[in-house]
Amino acid sequence: MARKKFIAGNWKMNTTLDEARALAKGLVEACGKITDVDVAVCPPYTNLQAVGEIIKGSSIKLGAQDVHWEAKGAYTGKISCAMLKSVGVTYVIIGHSEQRTYFHETDETVNKKAKAVLAADLRPIICVGETLAERKAGRLTVVAERQVKGAFAGISEADALKCTIAYEPVWAIGTGEVATPQQANEAHQFIRKVIVSVYNNAAAEGIRIQYGGSMKPDNVKDLLALSDVDGGLIGGAALKVQDFLGIIKPV
Ligand code: PEP
Repeated sequence: MARKKFIAGNWKMNTTLDEARALAKGLVEACGKITDVDVAVCPPYTNLQAVGEIIKGSSIKLGAQDVHWEAKGAYTGKISCAMLKSVGVTYVIIGHSEQRTYFHETDETVNKKAKAVLAADLRPIICVGETLAERKAGRLTVVAERQVKGAFAGISEADALKCTIAYEPVWAIGTGEVATPQQANEAHQFIRKVIVSVYNNAAAEGIRIQYGGSMKPDNVKDLLALSDVDGGLIGGAALKVQDFLGIIKPV
């Protein structure tokens, strides 16, 4: 069965409450009725509830940018799955390279978060990808295999099928550098092979793999035409209605 494309916008640490409301309203008007592609927006925690209220009734789903794996307690600054659920979140980005680089995210914490998200009946978007140094050293496959196997350790096939993987070469995130279609498809195909080795063909065929890294209206067509690219995780271009629409529309 063909995998439905999935475009998610990661707003990162952008948007005040008013800015988030304005962006969400613009998105609902521009793409709130699109159903042939799954669409989600991931605003900062402070804006989840407001954005959730604005997109309610549209086809756009709400996502969060991170979560803590514990259910509750003395974890100052952290947010739980139950808290995210209570404001209408469906998707949770886990293991973004900025979390891995700046905030000590490891394959082990990614795995704990993925398990917590699935246990709460939310949907993880698990980010993997190599740095420029790793790519130059020919370590793409080693890194991707370690990250994918680490993220999915102990997760059942049924739960794995609820996950999305975002392949995000770190050197392409926010840099304007985009992976060539060939580089992206090769990485996605490799990740699918890793899924076969962890689960089986059916899981590898079923799990969606987004591309992330400077995806924009002018390069989206080539990337989404690739057999193994099932959508995009969008940073910069998710912050302007016309840019985000320009990515969704060609799907
Ligand atoms: C991201 O942060 O996930 C991302 C892909 O960012 P950008 O589109 O800005 O490269």
